[in-house]
Order: sequence, then structure tokens, then C-alpha cells
Amino acid sequence: MFDRPLKILFASSEVVPFAKTGGLADVSGSLPKALAVTGHDNMGNDVRIVMPRYQHIEACCYKTDFPVPFLNRFETAIIRESAIESHFQEKRKTIPVYLVDNYHYFYRDRMYMFDDEAERFAFFCRAVLEMLPRLDWQPDVIHCNDWQCGPIPLFLKTHYRQNPFYNRIATVFTIHNLQYQGNFSREALKILGLGEEFFHPEKIEFFGSVSFMKAGILYADLINTVSRTYAEEIKHPETGERMDGILRKRSGDIYGILNGINYHEFNPGTDQRIHRNYDRFSIANKKENKFALQKTIGLPVRDVPVVGLISRLVDQKGIDLVSEIIDDMMSEDLQFIVLGSGEKYYEDMFKNIKTRYPEKVGLYIGFNAVLAQRIYAGADMFMMPSRFEPCGLGQMISLRYGTIPVVRFTGGLADTVSEYNTATGTGNGFGFSEYSGTELLKALRRALHLFREQPEQWNQLVRNAMEQDFSWTRSGVEYLQLYQEAMSRHPSVQKIA
Ligand code: ADP
Repeated sequence: MFDRPLKILFASSEVVPFAKTGGLADVSGSLPKALAVTGHDNMGNDVRIVMPRYQHIEACCYKTDFPVPFLNRFETAIIRESAIESHFQEKRKTIPVYLVDNYHYFYRDRMYMFDDEAERFAFFCRAVLEMLPRLDWQPDVIHCNDWQCGPIPLFLKTHYRQNPFYNRIATVFTIHNLQYQGNFSREALKILGLGEEFFHPEKIEFFGSVSFMKAGILYADLINTVSRTYAEEIKHPETGERMDGILRKRSGDIYGILNGINYHEFNPGTDQRIHRNYDRFSIANKKENKFALQKTIGLPVRDVPVVGLISRLVDQKGIDLVSEIIDDMMSEDLQFIVLGSGEKYYEDMFKNIKTRYPEKVGLYIGFNAVLAQRIYAGADMFMMPSRFEPCGLGQMISLRYGTIPVVRFTGGLADTVSEYNTATGTGNGFGFSEYSGTELLKALRRALHLFREQPEQWNQLVRNAMEQDFSWTRSGVEYLQLYQEAMSRHPSVQKIA
């Protein structure tokens, strides 16, 4: 299928273990590991990662530095090199990670949400391209992720178009979440170094703004998103975040490849962060994790169903449905353990719920990767009633840990969770379609009923969940096919000129 190893540059604004605010970081830290060892008689591919060096990332090996032409001046980029190890499927490989360092743009107390985001990430994209000849490394494809990397395909087809070093490089643009679009004022054209002719609906103008996401969508050779269902949803006006028109135009170039999770890292059989390891043959041990979790979070240690929720606390995640049903939910004999941070409104909402139900609700506001694992391992059910969900990793991790997802069937949740059927013993969770508290409550009650009344069936369900394979094995191969397709569609030098 693949005649030679590919050279792939994976560009992302966040990568585990260096920086993470959400699922993008998990994908950026795990997909390259799979690609590095997939294909070519297991020789794998030459995969490298590039990301900004934020202040909190430890200084690491200096690689090179150079001036980046930017805003009518030259701004220095220092490239530092770190690495991640791939232990994928018993094979080992080192993946270089290039960190783009610039004191002015990236030495800040957080990663995002500054007034000069356009400048910060346009600089990053420009530096990524300027870096390549300095490394003497010409990738076959640059895999660009989310709006922060949207200008890369645009730059290749504008500033670098006449330069023979660049014009064989194909691009793939992945939409991890269409809601975050990187839309800026018209001034951003100057930052991108482009003329007024680009402020046009056929180019990167977007409802009066300049959109970095639109740049990625329009100029990449191929586009993909992180589940098949979401790839369809984003082409519709109700769920297309105003990009649906452009996406429909490129509909033949849009793919949906389901994210995976790293089965090496997320493994209840070996996970050092949890109290007691277990696998699908020792499900009974899972209960010890529940008791340890109850202790850690300060709830009574009891054998009641524990519902977990780990999420960014934003509208997307359907948190308002939780608030709608909370009193009905609390009338049940259960415990609810929430880990999240985000909008103050939702943080306050959960603090209030905790105050009202101190014996039933465990709450940690903030980001805590270790506690997250303990909840995945210790809870019985995992709630994810998202308004929309491009892919969702939480439900995949919970399945891996035998913690049964209760989800809204949207986007990637619809592609990974199926309703448990007591007659056939098939399915891996519970769900609902209509966005309503009543439907969420019904799904939760179906789960609670099975848990309490039919323990044998529940164990079957847990086994089903743990037997699912959402590792990167299959999706990694699909990405390699996507890259090859992008390379074959990339216009030749003659066609570009
Ligand atoms: P999104 O990318 O929209 O935030 P995903 O489900 O794709 O949602 O990925 C979220 C990832 O972040 C999961 O790995 C989840 O466990 C983790 N996560 C979310 N909130 C927290 C938190 N407060 N503490 C620790 N991990 C979190």
C-alpha cells in the first residue's frame, strides 16, 4: 500500500506531555507515536512534531535559531529539540519534538486567550516553515491541527509558492473543534503578510473577520475531522458553526477519522496512578478503586453506584442538562464525582451543588491528570451529555477502564458508544439523542437499573466496554492513507506556478 516511509511533520499548539488544555494535546502526543511505527513492514515513518515552547516547558537542547520575516521586520525563532518515545505495540522509536521558542510571544503565564493571538500563532506558523530548510528536512506532508496552524497551508500557497524547497510539501488540516475558529480583525491580514485581495469571501474573509480556521480549510490539500459523524454534522447549517458553506464546497475533500487513545498509557492493568490494577478478567478489583476514590474525594466509602464527570466546563459539554436533572439524580442512592474547570458560571454551579449535597457529591475544580485516572478507574458510570462532540476522548478512556459511558449520541460519541441491549448482551453504554434533561435522566436511570438489578448483565456490559478497541492501530493506518491521498492531490509545481 505504501511504497516508502513517509516524512511527516505534525504541527500542533499543544502536545502531551509538554502542554495540554484538552483532547488536542492527547491526540498530538499519541497519533505521531502510532504513525512512527505503522506501515512499511513495521519500519514505520519519519514523524516529527513541532509546537510552541511555552514558558512552563523546561528549557531543552538548543537546535538552531534564525530570523523569521514577520510584520516588516525579522523576529527571532529559537528551535529547541526534545523528544517523545513511542512504545507502540512492543516497538520503540524516538520522535523528535521541535519547540519554537520566542520570548515575546510564548513566555506568558498561560497558553491562550491573549489579545495578540493572531500575531502569536501567525509567527509560529511562519517559524515552522522557515525552520525546515535549516533542519535540512523536507517533509512529504505537514499535518496541521486546528486554527492555530491554519496559516501553514495558506503560507505554502502564497509566500512560499515559488520556492522549490516547499512546493512538493502536501498539507492535511484537521479540525478538532470547529467552534474555535481563530477569527480576528481585518488587521490580521498585515500580520499574515497578505494584501487586501485576501479579504474576500472566496479567500480568508469570514463574516467581516479574518479566519485562521478558514485559511486551513481552504488551502490544505485535504481536510479531516475526528469522527465520521462530526465530519457530516459540520456540513449542516445548524451544526456547522457558519463554516458549513465552505465545508460543503470542499465536501469531496473532507474525511472523518476517529481519534484513538494510547492503550499503553491508558491501561487499567498497568496504570501506576490508580489504587489497584485490574483487567477484564479481574473486574472485581475495580471496586477497590471506587473505595479509594471515595476516600480521596472525601465521600462516605459505600458500595453505591458512582457517576463520574471529567470535563472542560463549557457550554459544549451539556453541563446545563446536568443542572436540570440534579435534584432527580440526587434522589437516587448514588454518588457523583466531578472534575473540571472552565467557565465560572459552571464552576459556581457545581460548588453550589456540592454545598447542597455534601454527602453525595465529590468536586475538584481544576486540572488534575492523576485524579482523572482515579475517577476513570473508580467510577461505575461516566457522564458525557455533550451538546456537540467532535470525537471525545473521555468516553474512550472510560470504556477502557470498564466505566460505562452515559452520553448524548452526537459526533464521536455516536460513533463509539452504543446502547446496551439486555436481550442480546451487546452494546457498551447508554445514550440519548434529543438534547434534553429528561432524556439524560432516562438514560442514567437505565444504567442505574441495570447496575442494581442485574449485576450479571452489568458485568457483561463492563466486559464489552473493556473489549472495545479504540487504540490508534486502525486510525493510524487511515491517516497514512490520508497523507498519501493528500500527496497525490497536491498540485504539481507546474500547476501551482
Ligand atoms: P475536549 O478536547 O473537548 O476537552 P475530550 O474528551 O476530547 O474533550 O478530551 C478531554 C481530555 O482532557 C480527556 O483526556 C479528559 O480526561 C481530560 N480532562 C478534561 N478536563 C480535565 C481536568 N479538569 N483534569 C484532568 N483531565 C481533564
